[in-house]
Amino acid sequence: MASEFDIIRKYFTREAPTAVLGVGDDCALLRPDPGMLLAVSTDMLTAGVHFFPDAEAGKLGHKALAVNLSDLAAMGAGPRWATLAVALPEPDEKWIAAFAEGFFGLAARFEVELIGGDTTRGPLAISVTVMGEVPAELALRRDAALAGDDIWLSGATGEAALALAHLKGRVKLEAAALEACLARLHTPQPRVDLGVRLRGLARSAIDVSDGLLADLGHILEASRVGAELTWEKLPRARALADCPDKALADECLLAGGDDYELVFTAPKVKRAQIQAAGRDLEIPLALIGAAIAGDPVVSLRDARGKLVSSPRKGFDHFA
Ligand code: ADP
Ligand code: MG
Repeated sequence: MASEFDIIRKYFTREAPTAVLGVGDDCALLRPDPGMLLAVSTDMLTAGVHFFPDAEAGKLGHKALAVNLSDLAAMGAGPRWATLAVALPEPDEKWIAAFAEGFFGLAARFEVELIGGDTTRGPLAISVTVMGEVPAELALRRDAALAGDDIWLSGATGEAALALAHLKGRVKLEAAALEACLARLHTPQPRVDLGVRLRGLARSAIDVSDGLLADLGHILEASRVGAELTWEKLPRARALADCPDKALADECLLAGGDDYELVFTAPKVKRAQIQAAGRDLEIPLALIGAAIAGDPVVSLRDARGKLVSSPRKGFDHFA
């Protein structure tokens, strides 16, 4: 049976050309570029909580890194390095090889170098820490939105949650919709290039991991502003528009987690530049509302200004 050290050497040791020292010593040694702040974030995925215990290893490897890269994107940070801590019930080499392939496939796309980690036996859990860089004054913090800012959303929300609803038997999606939604759930595409491009354009940003309203709510709380969203302007993916259960589709749209889109606020004068960024990167960007003075709540109105009632809460592990 492969030892812990065999596993690390065989599956998790790769070149890390921009690190001073990568995997193999007590610590990695890193030198951030001059003038840049280091942006650091950790996200953990636990079997039975964040994924089904029989989930495909390659997709898990992808997702474990993707959710972390999404946090860097939401800060306007460009990814550089990552560490990976895994607890494995048994050293199943086929599983580990597939996991590593998923992880390094995404890492290569964004030139992320794995520079350390920890490997132990235990109930399956994966924790990734990513490190990225952002120029000191340009980080997209949650507390920087101002009343009067536009509120933008990349892509569309709700498909990942709709996939989960299907898997739990709450709805039966037809094949094409299911395929689109499952891809969103299992292999989310972090908006890394968009995050970097929004430096100096957006004022604040967050990634949608727990639901559009809940995550926008975090910006509002931190920035002490309110928000008005226009119902008709919320982008709807095909699968949601076609969903036979309208109430479920709305719930997924507003409160469904796991999409890893970016919600951001920006001054109105940046509109044209933001639209150009969306065109260049081929990412749909929707202007969905505005930040307003007042309590940190979202009011959702239809195009005629009438309040639309909404499922308020996103996902909360302890609720
Ligand atoms: P230590 O006992 O000093 O913490 P370990 O035996 O845990 O060292 O790890 C040896 C080296 O392998 C370290 O450089 C560590 O960062 C790296 N490492 C361990 N597990 C992983 C992993 N899953 N992915 C990447 N690097 C790892
Ligand atoms: Mg260790």
